[in-house]
Amino acid sequence: MSILDWLWLAVRVLAGAGLGLLAGLLIGRPWFGVALVLGLQLAWQLARLSRVVHWLRRDRPEPAPDFGGLWGELVTLIVRLHRRRQYHKSRLLRLLRELRRSTAAMPDGVVVLNPGAEILWFNRTAGRLLGLRGKTDVGFRVENLVRHPEFVRYLRGGNYAAPVVFRPAAASERYLAIQVVPYGTGQRLMLVRDVTREVRLEALRKDFVANASHELRSPLTVISGYLETLAEDPALGAGHAEPVQEMRRQAERMNLIVRDLLELSRLESSEREIEGARMDVAALIAQLRRDVAARPEPRPSVDVVLESGADLQGDEDQIHSAFRNVLDNALKYTPPEGRVRMRWWQDAAGGHFAVSDTGIGIAPEHIPRLTERFYRVDPGRSRETGGSGLGLAIVKHVLQRHGGWLEIQSVEGQGSTFTCHFPPPRLVASPPATAAPGEAAGTVSQPRRLTAI
Ligand code: ADP
Repeated sequence: MSILDWLWLAVRVLAGAGLGLLAGLLIGRPWFGVALVLGLQLAWQLARLSRVVHWLRRDRPEPAPDFGGLWGELVTLIVRLHRRRQYHKSRLLRLLRELRRSTAAMPDGVVVLNPGAEILWFNRTAGRLLGLRGKTDVGFRVENLVRHPEFVRYLRGGNYAAPVVFRPAAASERYLAIQVVPYGTGQRLMLVRDVTREVRLEALRKDFVANASHELRSPLTVISGYLETLAEDPALGAGHAEPVQEMRRQAERMNLIVRDLLELSRLESSEREIEGARMDVAALIAQLRRDVAARPEPRPSVDVVLESGADLQGDEDQIHSAFRNVLDNALKYTPPEGRVRMRWWQDAAGGHFAVSDTGIGIAPEHIPRLTERFYRVDPGRSRETGGSGLGLAIVKHVLQRHGGWLEIQSVEGQGSTFTCHFPPPRLVASPPATAAPGEAAGTVSQPRRLTAI
């Protein structure tokens, strides 16, 4: 509405008031005439307003009242606004319908949860996999319907980095993987997948490796035994001595690979964290140091820094194997004139065992793949040094089963640091009785540097 229209309206009102004033003068009551005309104008405007309100209140669409001027413009604006809203609404509805149709047809199950973990919606696959029923189960808390303890722990835990895999019922042959994806304000999306086939294949693979390794052990022991006897036989011709020695070395390598494969199979037999028992870390490190001292020279010098007297709660054999693997690698990949350092310390993040070396180091592109089975930076060198290629895979699994993780830092040509991190609940403070003489009873974090070897 332009300024001219407003002016025209004002002129009309004023003209009406003027006429009313004139008519009032004729009867000797000028203000009565003005009031009457303004009153009539007001009544006319109210009548239009009432028609607009009546039109807006109608549920069914009805042609808009055809007013001119100010009221006509108001009605046009309302109609335009309404049409725009209708357009967006129907577009949204169409999108929503399409979204629902596509998620309903998805091969994976989808469940939408509100912040209170109550089911808002689920598709057909989720209903079939989780045994949810169409109308009755909407609005119920999901943990009351899917009661498996592992799922409930996962849902409440809030750590949704990886899916949880479980058997929905003890008698069921089926395995389900559920991945929760948080979105919006506290809402969660649950993706449900039937992973029975994958779980079975994985179990088959693990069984195969375990059985094959087990079956190989006995013939290998026999071969190694005969080769040893043969190597010590004085009647062995000079031409055969070297090949027999090589056969012994290779048989020893095979023994090592079989041993490591069996150890990995044992570690993989369960995903659960190991509870274990209290183990003396200082004693374990001292043992590792003694083992290194017994090795033939030349080899890098090893020194130990014990900054914590805390012990660990875990499986002693497994932790020994993990620490030994990391230390063996440092010795293997460091030249004799280099240095290796073992360090054990604790802080708010837990307990940490690090082995640093001044060896050949590792290029950054290899670091993320080092814990894969049989991954070697330089396969030739690894074989030469008698490595099975499984050492770091074992370390990773051992740490995982203790709630910990392996950190690898390295600079090619300068050296590496492999750190085994353990979470705080795995630490056990050293009892006062075991404190070394001269040390304040119960103090566990006095830095203690042990002699280098
Ligand atoms: P391997 O038996 O071959 O040593 P591992 O799984 O223990 O197998 O290690 C995998 C690879 O990681 C090794 O082949 C080697 O290339 C590299 N690596 C491990 N530790 C070190 C280290 N301290 N310095 C340099 N490279 C290392």
